[in-house]
Amino acid sequence: MENSNNQDMLAIERLLSVEERQIRDSVRDFVNAEIVPITKQHFRDAIFPEYVVKGMAGLGIFGAHIDGYGCAGVSPVGYGLIMQELEKADSAIRSFASVQSSLAMTAIWLHGSEEQKNHWLPLMAEGKVIGAFALTEPDHGSDPGSMTTFASPNTKGWILNGEKFWITNASRANVIVVWAKTPDGIKAFIVEAPVKGLSVSEIKNKLSLRISSTGSLAFENIQLSNDSILEKSKGLSSALQCLNYARFGIAWGVMGAAEACLTETLNYTMQRTQFSRPIAAYQLVQSKLADMYTELSVGQLLAYQIADNKRSGTLHHSQISMAKYRNTQTALDIARTCRDLLGASGVLDDFVTMRHMMNLEAVNTYEGTRHMHQLAIGKHLTGIAAFDG
Ligand SMILES: Cc1cc2nc3c(=O)[nH]c(=O)nc-3n(C[C@H](O)[C@H](O)[C@H](O)COP(=O)(O)OP(=O)(O)OC[C@H]3O[C@@H](n4cnc5c(N)ncnc54)[C@H](O)[C@@H]3O)c2cc1C
Repeated sequence: MENSNNQDMLAIERLLSVEERQIRDSVRDFVNAEIVPITKQHFRDAIFPEYVVKGMAGLGIFGAHIDGYGCAGVSPVGYGLIMQELEKADSAIRSFASVQSSLAMTAIWLHGSEEQKNHWLPLMAEGKVIGAFALTEPDHGSDPGSMTTFASPNTKGWILNGEKFWITNASRANVIVVWAKTPDGIKAFIVEAPVKGLSVSEIKNKLSLRISSTGSLAFENIQLSNDSILEKSKGLSSALQCLNYARFGIAWGVMGAAEACLTETLNYTMQRTQFSRPIAAYQLVQSKLADMYTELSVGQLLAYQIADNKRSGTLHHSQISMAKYRNTQTALDIARTCRDLLGASGVLDDFVTMRHMMNLEAVNTYEGTRHMHQLAIGKHLTGIAAFDG
């Protein structure tokens, strides 16, 4: 981590290749120039900044982890660093890139035919087609395997009925990867929007991820062609495979949000004077700064370790669970402590910390809650599943 004093106490920089540093720096420059200055207003207005999509595509951010099909094919560390830099600005910006890349594009890449990949992935890499990933339903969140959305075969292909909820990019997506039960188990389908029978509505008044567009989808007798099914998808595990790509990115991304809070707070505590001294001079404050810096560094090393395991082909989903829930909790703890140290100023949106704190609440819940990831690790350790599914 480089804070305002350019400190990297554990020399984490040394772990990065020249190429990975270049990727990070180019995304960092773009984020600082194009995204950081507009986040406050966009958060107030709850509007996604459409115009940043072109810049993100130009940097090769969409589907960056995919090799071929017009995608950049960067290393796992390179991908993680992209997520970290995006989330320094706002978790919603990282969420947008995650859904496009790790969920929608990855679903097509892992489970689609060559024709589907050749058609959709280059368009999505260029940001010309925006994707969504529709798994969650109003009554099925942590337990998506109990979904009721159903696709029935007919002479023309498939008829889709059901409802999805809490879907990022729902109202903006041209391509929605919808997970549905079929007589042959859970499968993924590409639904091109708009289409007859599809209703989309925006979920309004979120207090978290306000920059992100989140919506609900209703499918009423939508006729899908045979080409719309992602043939290689087989059961819920195929959806979870995609989620693991996104959770990997979250483990990196939230460290960016935490770093932004800590950098702001370190600067503030050195400038803010109470009882004739900067508040950073007090032992109680330094103890909090030291704890936060240490936890942040440990989280960055955890993110690096899972990336290294991914590179060597030894990454297990329980490691991703550990990094997703641990780093999100660490980032939340850091954001809350920073808010405290900023005093009354910290409740203003002139400071980034409370916005990050509110965003991280949703990040803590989506892509598997803390409980669900703890239970995944519990199962790995004991061999006993604490829940069915
Ligand atoms: C802003 C936002 C964007 C999202 N984007 C998407 C998207 O693009 N696509 C998509 O498909 N979904 C998306 N989601 C949905 C998200 O993945 C779900 O919210 C998440 O899976 C949790 O489901 P739930 O909210 O229904 O909570 P629930 O499953 O109802 O959980 C509520 C609480 O109960 C606990 N709990 C549940 N079961 C157990 C158990 N067995 N043991 C112990 N505790 C348990 C949970 O840990 C949690 O604390 C998004 C959510 C948000 C907030």
